[in-house]
Amino acid sequence: MKILSLPAEMAAWSQAAVAAGRRIVLVPTMGYFHEGHLSLMDRGRAQGDALVVSLFVNPIQFGPGEDLGRYPRDFQRDSELAAGRGAEVLFAPGAGDMYPADSASRVVVSGLDQGLCGAKRPGHFAGVTTVVAKLFHLVRPHVAVFGEKDFQQLAIIRRMVADLDFQVEVIGHPIVREADGLAMSSRNVYLSADERRRALCLHQALTAARQACAGGLRDGAAVARLAEECIRPHARIDYIEIADRRLLRPQERIDADSMLFLAAFVGTTRLIDNCRLLAGGDA
Ligand code: AMP
Repeated sequence: MKILSLPAEMAAWSQAAVAAGRRIVLVPTMGYFHEGHLSLMDRGRAQGDALVVSLFVNPIQFGPGEDLGRYPRDFQRDSELAAGRGAEVLFAPGAGDMYPADSASRVVVSGLDQGLCGAKRPGHFAGVTTVVAKLFHLVRPHVAVFGEKDFQQLAIIRRMVADLDFQVEVIGHPIVREADGLAMSSRNVYLSADERRRALCLHQALTAARQACAGGLRDGAAVARLAEECIRPHARIDYIEIADRRLLRPQERIDADSMLFLAAFVGTTRLIDNCRLLAGGDA
């Protein structure tokens, strides 16, 4: 596996790979890999013949007071894991190379960024779409794989790709969970043993809501209340929302497109989760 750290090196590698007729797959990450990341890599490897994993803790998607400074990092372990999953390139640029002092542009997808995490983390998604647009230009992937764990992010990236004519197929991958249901996240490492137990309330809320919907409940406010009852004793709720999976618009009545979106602080750690309320599995 090649480790590349300069954007120009990455661009040169991609240009040669495209010229050689290779099908490039990109899995963008912020590192500190867990099975969620690794299953995205497995999915990606099956989609093409050159897997590129990017590892970049993107400073411009963190707000003031968020965890940029203490975001977990372990480059040695990550590079071994990515190599073990068949990555051909690990692209790990420095922040100064991605955003030189005179850089002044942002990619903004409006509308879809209004609710959910977009409402709670102003500027976050502009940071995400800007870095993903840059990665798409540098890596020139035919396919890019993103997790449904960050469902709003996935919807916004799909919109950006359609609106700006990026020639890339975006694949969404289901949420990978611990055995007890907790959605895997690099941030789970922040949790103390007690918080780790309490963090299960998010998955319990999703399960209770799905069960109620399977039993015929269609009133969104009642479903949200059920979720709230599961979470409130254990965590500080950031939001509980029911919205449709295509436009992320709030819904009062549950239908086949309805999803439940959760964000809550367990101690100081902000966790998110989501699921489809009717039919099928995660999303
Ligand atoms: P991150 O490193 O947290 O920015 O995540 C990199 C990619 O992995 C994103 O597309 C995430 O949605 C995805 N991802 C993170 N956690 C999970 C998970 N538990 N299951 C599936 N995908 C995930």
